[in-house]
Amino acid sequence: ERARLSRLRHTRAVTLDGQSVEMLANIELPQDAQGAVEAGAEGVGLFRSEFLFMNRGGQLPAEEEQFEAYKAVVMGMQGRPVTIRTVDVGADKPLERSLGGEGRHDHVLNPALGMRAIRWSLSEPGMFRQQLRAILRASAHGPVRLLVPMVTHLWEIKQVHECLARVRSQLADGQVAIGHVELGIMIEVPAAALILPSLLPWVDFISIGTNDLIQYTLAIDRADESVAHLYDPWHPAVLGLLEQVIRQTRAAGKSVCVCGEMAGDTLFTETLLAMGLRSFSMHPAQIATVKQRILRADTARLASTLGSLLTSEQLAAASAQELH
Ligand code: PEP
Ligand code: MG
Repeated sequence: ERARLSRLRHTRAVTLDGQSVEMLANIELPQDAQGAVEAGAEGVGLFRSEFLFMNRGGQLPAEEEQFEAYKAVVMGMQGRPVTIRTVDVGADKPLERSLGGEGRHDHVLNPALGMRAIRWSLSEPGMFRQQLRAILRASAHGPVRLLVPMVTHLWEIKQVHECLARVRSQLADGQVAIGHVELGIMIEVPAAALILPSLLPWVDFISIGTNDLIQYTLAIDRADESVAHLYDPWHPAVLGLLEQVIRQTRAAGKSVCVCGEMAGDTLFTETLLAMGLRSFSMHPAQIATVKQRILRADTARLASTLGSLLTSEQLAAASAQELH
């Protein structure tokens, strides 16, 4: 079975009815790029840049160090697209320091709802521009896409555009070469999913973070074991939001990927295909097994079952089964 799965590495993920599915890797450190290529990834769908920021006694990585890390991933992926997510510290991924000065975050009341991800980046604009500069510079070495986590408000995207414009013009002034970099946002806060039509004109692509989307939709702390049994990806509210985001993004002619754990779990492969998803990003070790599922799927048949799947009663039954 292992040998059979490994032979699948170089097989393209195409369904029985001829639909091509993009298989991307989630990585955390530059040295993970090699494993992603070996696992047959067609690109990096999520590079969690915060791992460059964590466990270093609160010292932030300088622009040069970040640039070298991003460039290493871009070079390592050998022409395949690399999606770099701006720093997503906070909540389950704390920096080892109090953020933003004197005592401000010493006692975080509710980290998952606090100063994390894009909220922190926008509150530390110098740090954020440094990261954007490093990412844009890496784009001179291969295709780079920029991904912003935890977007909740339209104005957050507008501020990111302003920061990007400023950094681009600085780089142009310094005659630093950069490539074309697309801008995408994570949909992982239900509010963002619900206002998606107003966000879409401002972005090139969407990536759905189901780990957080489930946490925030169900009000279940993803790190709290005492409520882990209530963390239910089959909840009709979760599936409804997922279906809506995939459908609306595709209708707008933009690409949509799922990069949360659901994408790498074969329990959900058919459901996500039925919803119209054609881009999956997961831990490299899961690519072969998910691909095997995709090769056996018929999306036309699956799509016709979606209506009944999204009926709350059926879902309630399915989710009760899941839990007991
Ligand atoms: C997610 O929330 O689904 C996600 C991919 O991001 P992270 O797990 O890093 O929060
Ligand atoms: Mg997340």
